[in-house]
Amino acid sequence: MSSAAELLLDTARRGELHHSIILHGPSREELRALALSLAKTLNCLEGTTGDDCPACDRIERRLHPDVHFIEVSGERKLISIEQIREVVAEATLRPYEGRNKVFVIDPADGLSTGGSNSLLKTLEEPARDTTFILLTRSPDLLLPTIRSRSQAIYVGGEVAQDEELADFIRSGLMRFARERDTAALLAIAAAVSQREPTGDAIALLGTILCDAAAGRIDLGGSLSVDRILAAADGTTAALRWLAVNADARLVVEQALAELV
Ligand SMILES: [Zn+2]
Repeated sequence: MSSAAELLLDTARRGELHHSIILHGPSREELRALALSLAKTLNCLEGTTGDDCPACDRIERRLHPDVHFIEVSGERKLISIEQIREVVAEATLRPYEGRNKVFVIDPADGLSTGGSNSLLKTLEEPARDTTFILLTRSPDLLLPTIRSRSQAIYVGGEVAQDEELADFIRSGLMRFARERDTAALLAIAAAVSQREPTGDAIALLGTILCDAAAGRIDLGGSLSVDRILAAADGTTAALRWLAVNADARLVVEQALAELV
């Protein structure tokens, strides 16, 4: 499992997940597996990131009354407006037996414009304990109004995706760990916030910080694991702020300020 996925599951375990998540990436299987793990984590009776407790088992077998899969079927390419109406009605109810109602929309680019619009108000003012997980190859395939209400997470192959930026981030972090030169952090924030799509670049930064906290990357300095984890959490917050059109550079600088 990628570090981005681990970070996301841990965020879910702590109950701090954004209420609408877009999981995007090239592998539909990987997206589905992560969505399933998230649904389990949000409802696991053992409080873990998904184990074989009865709730997780029922989610796996698609028998859990609070976890809904909205999919296209047969010849249809689109999710029907009736399916979305059911989601909207169901989303107003409290969970039956779990802690969270989870709606997995697969694929989210199967939403028609009408379907997307019907879903907007629910996404905007979600009931407590409700999480939407939208799966797609690319957030660009979704309406901007859906994207702006959701946190987009790239799943799979993130490091290979932008090796140049990853190198820049790693060497900047090493320089900061060695010399405590905050200019190195500001340079990282500038580089990350100028990348398109910025959400993917911030997710990459979060992945690298997680790798450093887990000891998979040696920054060669004396940064505490707590501070590195705080900065990694900061990148999750930054993605949330980005979804409401906050200044990307500022929010990344704030995340990295946790290291100082
Ligand atoms: Zn469980």
